[in-house]
Amino acid sequence: MTLHVQTPLIESRPLSLAAGPTLWLKLEALQPSGSFKLRGVGHACEVHHARGARHFVSSSGGNAGLAVAYAGRKLGVPVTVVVPETTSARAIELLKLEDAQVVVKGSSWQEANQHAQGLLGAGDAFIHPFDDPLLWTGHASMIDEVAQAGLKPDAVVLSVGGGGLLSGVVEGLKRNGWHDVPVLAVETEGAASLHAAITAGHPVELPAINSVATSLGAKRVADQALACAQHHPLHSEQVSDRAALQACERFLHDHRILVEPACGAALALAYAPGRLAHYNKVLMIVCGGATATLEQIHDWLAA
Ligand SMILES: *Cc1c(COP(=O)(O)O)cnc(C)c1O
Repeated sequence: MTLHVQTPLIESRPLSLAAGPTLWLKLEALQPSGSFKLRGVGHACEVHHARGARHFVSSSGGNAGLAVAYAGRKLGVPVTVVVPETTSARAIELLKLEDAQVVVKGSSWQEANQHAQGLLGAGDAFIHPFDDPLLWTGHASMIDEVAQAGLKPDAVVLSVGGGGLLSGVVEGLKRNGWHDVPVLAVETEGAASLHAAITAGHPVELPAINSVATSLGAKRVADQALACAQHHPLHSEQVSDRAALQACERFLHDHRILVEPACGAALALAYAPGRLAHYNKVLMIVCGGATATLEQIHDWLAA
């Protein structure tokens, strides 16, 4: 038994026609918490639970926090999520639906996280949103499922925030012997912390995040994400916020699934003519995201 579900892998006719190659969608948006995060977070929570943890703490007001809240409810472990004042009413509502205790503290994620760290006592497990090997091992299961389905893609497209998804997918590619399958790592222009690290040759901290793709808003990527870029074939790609938002709208139209701009960033690569032209069979990780409403996406597009 795992906390995540095995997700559908479907061929997308609309995205294939837009992109050129055949596009296969791994529909992580259909995880019960709304994003791929449940794979890694669920695995981490199960491990901590087995080790005797009696309380999970998160400082993510986004999909990582939602995954912790879901995992805690399923395991019968209480969850506290500390979020900054900037967190949307929608995100807080979703956390409360999962029975998490929500503490609103501080004006930035740094302050909320500091408060969360201060809460930790014996028997508490802190679940990081992206920088933890337990998470990467959990995320890697999505590639196992693709291999079991008999599909070997010639490229994988995914979004990068702090690089946990990237680290997990590369772990999955490696453990299935797919050392030759390149990853196209997509960031929005205002949240390109992986690109900055690759350019510098070491992780760097961006002075600020300037993107509507809040789930990609890690100022600094995990060291492991940069290591993936250095030891596995990887192309760093960037798209505008506008392209990410338009991709959300088009994907809703094409597949009737609403995703966050963080996921729209990866989808935008398929909707931009020519950017995937030199591949034949592309695996798109539809990472999902539960915190954006359609109204908000329209408001961002109109701004
Ligand atoms: C967390 C998240 C990402 C980025 O994942 P990282 O592991 O931080 O790189 C992308 N899309 C969605 C919807 C997310 O929740």
